[in-house]
Amino acid sequence: MATTRSELPDAAGRFGDFGGRFVPETLMAALDELTTAYVAARDDDGFQAELAALLKSFVGRPTPLYHAARLTAHAGGAQIYLKREDLAHTGAHKINNALGQALLAQRMGKRRIVAETGAGMHGVAAATACAMLGMDCVVYMGEEDMRRQEPNVHRIRMLGAEIRPVTAGARTLKEAVSETIRDWVTNVADTHYIIGSVVGPHPYPMMVRDFQTVIGREARAQMLEATGSLPEYAVACVGGGSNSLGLFVPFVDDASVRLIGVEAGGDGIETGRHAASIGGGRVGVLHGSMSYVIQTDDGQILDTHSISAGLDYPGVGPEHAWLKELGRTEYVSVNDPEAVAAFKLVSTLEGIIPALESAHAIAYVVDTLAPSLPREQAVLVCLSGRGDKDMGTIREADEAAGAR
Ligand SMILES: *Cc1c(COP(=O)(O)O)cnc(C)c1O
Repeated sequence: MATTRSELPDAAGRFGDFGGRFVPETLMAALDELTTAYVAARDDDGFQAELAALLKSFVGRPTPLYHAARLTAHAGGAQIYLKREDLAHTGAHKINNALGQALLAQRMGKRRIVAETGAGMHGVAAATACAMLGMDCVVYMGEEDMRRQEPNVHRIRMLGAEIRPVTAGARTLKEAVSETIRDWVTNVADTHYIIGSVVGPHPYPMMVRDFQTVIGREARAQMLEATGSLPEYAVACVGGGSNSLGLFVPFVDDASVRLIGVEAGGDGIETGRHAASIGGGRVGVLHGSMSYVIQTDDGQILDTHSISAGLDYPGVGPEHAWLKELGRTEYVSVNDPEAVAAFKLVSTLEGIIPALESAHAIAYVVDTLAPSLPREQAVLVCLSGRGDKDMGTIREADEAAGAR
């Protein structure tokens, strides 16, 4: 490998051929300002100490590592360990990044935050960080996602943020991102855009990754403490790719640990109704960055489908594309029904109701990976969030299955 990981991305924000900045000139100055501020904060012990203190006292970190004994017995193979991001404040890993970026915005003297949200977990996380720090917050959310994730709509409003419904296109995450970028371009002097995943133009993929690697740093130490060795596999679901990259990156130099990302297969990649950007997409540009995108031959972005709103996005972070090209990470997909089955299985076997997003990773581990491995081996899975928000979606899926 010519370039080691810690050196990337390069100054242009590139991971190999991926990443970069494909944005209008009007955003370049704002992205430069953000990069300079972020790099200074990253290297400032005071900023890191402030963030670490809040991650502990406000977010509840470190989150536990849990040996899922009944799930392991059910799968009949490798030991399954869950990294409990569902126990982080607000119920998902999103808060690690939202808090980091909100602190950065405060440091930059910006009092207004804009954010997009799909499943609503990032909207909740951004609204939470803004309430705690006394900042204004506007959250853009597609109307379809507002319907699918109604509990989170109420949570965001309760936290004092304004929700702006997005009615364009499929009315989901892709359109919400576009609206948020438009707002940022217009109000950039006093506004910071908190992107919720490792996507978008440089420096976002780098910055969000750095804020999320707390997941993998903790999990690596916790696995060593619990078992005396590293896991054979680390597995996580991939939407934009932030909980997975946060888990994977601290293991990248551990050649014995295989890293597997699980994308949303929806109705099946072959049907065209899916959200598997790597498994069913091609290289292109979306929201300012070069990576795998679900698009037509001539670059038209296609509508995606997943039962899980948090995975329903036609792109993926550029660092995933690069790690895949290097052969360091592997990607598989899990379809809607298998994710729903895993959701119910973890709930009844372990007393943990997982997010539908996380259920994709668990489905792959329980149905395919763990049973193929010996009992002495260990699989670490990121339980990226809790599933309270998904009750309505599960009920609808059950009703649809009953009607069939
Ligand atoms: C947003 C979300 C995801 C998907 O986003 P990534 O950036 O791929 O992590 C996964 N799980 C939960 C619980 C989420 O809220």
